[in-house]
Amino acid sequence: MGNPREARGDGSPAAKGSGMVSGPASDVYALRARWVLPVLSPPIRDGIVAIAGSQILDVGADRGEYRSIDLGEAAILPGLVNSHTHLEFSDLEVPLGRPGMPFTEWIAAVVQHRRQHDPEDPQRMVAAIRRGIAESLRLGVTTLGEIATGPWPGDRISEQPNGVVFRELLGLPSERIESQIDLAQAHLKLGRSGEAWRAGLSPHAPYSVHPELLSRSVDLARRGDAPLAMHLAETREELQLLASHDGPFVPLLRQLGVWEPDALPIGRRPMDYLKILARAPRALVIHGNYLADDEIRFLGDRADRMSVVYCPRTHRYFGHEPYPLTRMMAAGVCVALGTDSRSSSPDLSLLAEMHQVAEEHSEIAPDRILRMATVQGARALGCGPTIGTLDVCGPADLIVVELPTGQRDPYSWLFDASTRVLATICRGRLVAGSFNRNADFPP
Ligand SMILES: [Zn+2]
Repeated sequence: MGNPREARGDGSPAAKGSGMVSGPASDVYALRARWVLPVLSPPIRDGIVAIAGSQILDVGADRGEYRSIDLGEAAILPGLVNSHTHLEFSDLEVPLGRPGMPFTEWIAAVVQHRRQHDPEDPQRMVAAIRRGIAESLRLGVTTLGEIATGPWPGDRISEQPNGVVFRELLGLPSERIESQIDLAQAHLKLGRSGEAWRAGLSPHAPYSVHPELLSRSVDLARRGDAPLAMHLAETREELQLLASHDGPFVPLLRQLGVWEPDALPIGRRPMDYLKILARAPRALVIHGNYLADDEIRFLGDRADRMSVVYCPRTHRYFGHEPYPLTRMMAAGVCVALGTDSRSSSPDLSLLAEMHQVAEEHSEIAPDRILRMATVQGARALGCGPTIGTLDVCGPADLIVVELPTGQRDPYSWLFDASTRVLATICRGRLVAGSFNRNADFPP
């Protein structure tokens, strides 16, 4: 079975028994599965999702209204939302460095990797991005929060998922500010010219961004109504640098020739940054591994436009202290999930990230984990209320995951590390996988 657009047969008079059918009715098809999980409403046993063109026409129990493709022991979920990644590293076969290595050593390895490859070979970067998108679609991700370090090659990418491309802004020394602001402005202009992607900005992190660069990028985000993403409170060493200019960041920044002590007034903490980010129309705090209680409350009070992106397997890679997920949820923080990049994660599987959350946080109910990977990611990125859910009239972005035979639990797939994504549909089109369980369709 190939493209579902070829799978005519909606039971309507126009489609019944005919060969090629023209007109909108020929675009209607339905998928039937043991479980349908719309996310914002309870799971439906033996449910269907009917699709018309690029939109969802119907979600519910199978009342026999549509000729459907029976997927059998499978679950239909909304396309997953990977709220944080860096696709330029998607050609790495294994992460940089080694598990448990000091974060500053890993940053040095990332800088070295970039210096080795990027300026000399922009083609490599484009190839890596394309590879990362193909991998994401194969693994069921239809919406991405991507951090880009070069001009976005949208015209050279055939399958465009939904999402935001955040232009990374880097520069602790004050002489870097103007050139970074120029890049930010150019990127925001590009994002307004009818691209499938929305443009956002990502002042990288407190240790790599001059405070003036940060506040001016927030101003630009406000003017362009663009989302902003910043790595924050990722390590204890970062807090140490901000508080007292101590710890391993100082020698690293010196070695890179970018240490400017006057740029970072002593005695700062993540809260100072959160207050600046709160001025943006929408802000994503990437990681937030070491946020204090008052900082978590600050984010919980602004959950309509500020969120945190938890990257579980990257968190484990660096051997961080346990993630404060329960405290964040209790404070009402909007927590989304990300894979981060292949420089700290073995692949771009958001299912694997969900599985990791389920393993490490048994107190969190599975439906809440699914929300983190879908609607909360969509909210974090500002994608609108119909992304990350199966919603009538919303875009037909959905995936089919395999279920262990005979399972009565609609979330059994979440607890099984070997769960596979069988098919990914983006805006009504099959973009990865196949419905190879189909027994009775096409007739
Ligand atoms: Zn990152």
